[in-house]
Amino acid sequence: MLDISAPVSIFPRKSDYPGYVEKKDGGYILFIDPTILKKDELTDFVVNLFIHELWHVRQMEDGRLSSNSAQTVAVWEGVHFAMTVMKHEQRPWEIEAYRMEDVYFRQVKEQMTGNNYPG
Ligand SMILES: [Zn+2]
Repeated sequence: MLDISAPVSIFPRKSDYPGYVEKKDGGYILFIDPTILKKDELTDFVVNLFIHELWHVRQMEDGRLSSNSAQTVAVWEGVHFAMTVMKHEQRPWEIEAYRMEDVYFRQVKEQMTGNNYPG
């Protein structure tokens, strides 16, 4: 659905975010909050979390987003951003990923349930 061909693995996360992405060996690792993984429930929050993190994979696959290994600097569409001075929700790649949650949520729910999803 998100047109991602690179392999994506899921691991318990190591930081405070519910989820984040790292590029590794030609693929990607989604680090997800272990309490979410243990519950093993596809709540609306979890659906949106996966859309969001997978959209970051898509951004990296498309060559629009990259970062240094320490994750202190991000390059978004050729512009360098210091992560330390920029709030999470102000980053343009985050704004886009949050928007994609709205774009794909209904489609994913329909695929999961096989029904038309209201709203
Ligand atoms: Zn994000």
